[in-house]
Amino acid sequence: MKARSLAALLLPAMILMLVGLAALVAPTKPQAAPAVDSTRPRAVNRPILAYGSRGAAVRQAQTLLSRHGYRVPVTGFFGALTARQVRRFQVAHGIRSTGNVGPLTWGKLLDGGGGPAAARPVPAARPTPTSLTAPAAAGSAGVVYLTFDDGPTPDWTPRVLELLARYQARATFFVLGRSAAAYPELVRQEFAAGHGVGNHTWSHRRLTGLTAAQLAAEVSATSGAIQRITGAPVGCLRPPFATVDATSADQVRALGLRLVLWDIDTNDWLRPGTGAIAGRVLGRVRSGDVILMHDGGGNRSQTVAALERVLATLSARGYRFHALCRG
Ligand SMILES: [Zn+2]
Repeated sequence: MKARSLAALLLPAMILMLVGLAALVAPTKPQAAPAVDSTRPRAVNRPILAYGSRGAAVRQAQTLLSRHGYRVPVTGFFGALTARQVRRFQVAHGIRSTGNVGPLTWGKLLDGGGGPAAARPVPAARPTPTSLTAPAAAGSAGVVYLTFDDGPTPDWTPRVLELLARYQARATFFVLGRSAAAYPELVRQEFAAGHGVGNHTWSHRRLTGLTAAQLAAEVSATSGAIQRITGAPVGCLRPPFATVDATSADQVRALGLRLVLWDIDTNDWLRPGTGAIAGRVLGRVRSGDVILMHDGGGNRSQTVAALERVLATLSARGYRFHALCRG
């Protein structure tokens, strides 16, 4: 009887202690883990993820990044590696590179279409794109975005186009408006072959040195020239000299264009030698990288030779080459 009453007394106390202990040792609740359903809700309903976030939403972002070719372990924790891959994804998709996953980045991550400008009308003649969101096939190393600035030029653009066709590679040409107007047939060929055609201003002006009116004229005239040739709206711009500040970036976006920079600068315009140009790409390329080269602005024979080496080597490694700035 005595033992039973002691147990009756101790039992609730022990339960209380256990509950207390469990509360102490239980892992803290995920900070950013609202319900994530398996259907595809609108991007705006997603939580904003940042360094340190954890939970189901982070796991989903990591899964989507991986599907887009940005390798990141699916841990549910938003660490430095995830932040780096998010930044690379944002650069490739013309989103401001914050490293945080906000509504714009969610939208692109969830985008089932052909990438950066999926909402744009697609010309009927467009070659079938490989979906960016398809899970990487066995043996596939990922996606690389080759880009060529300062063209088109009759000396070099046809040779670049021929190489790209030989390797069934898509790329993106950031053309000067004045050159597009001078060589519309080359721009037409670029677009018809499935490449992206972006805006690089009319006369290679440094955006930060222009008044708002000058910037609008440089950019709009170029977009207009391209659209008259391709029949498709222009979705993105690469700023000459990579110079852009908050004001000019806002002005460019107000004109309906995304800014596209790059991950790897080959410095091909310095003519450091074919091996040096190719080596800069082959030595450090990772899936999702945007590569900067030129098909104008001087003798590009080294660029053409390096391009062939890059295409051959990366094709053999299992990379695919996709276009940016394309509907
Ligand atoms: Zn340029």
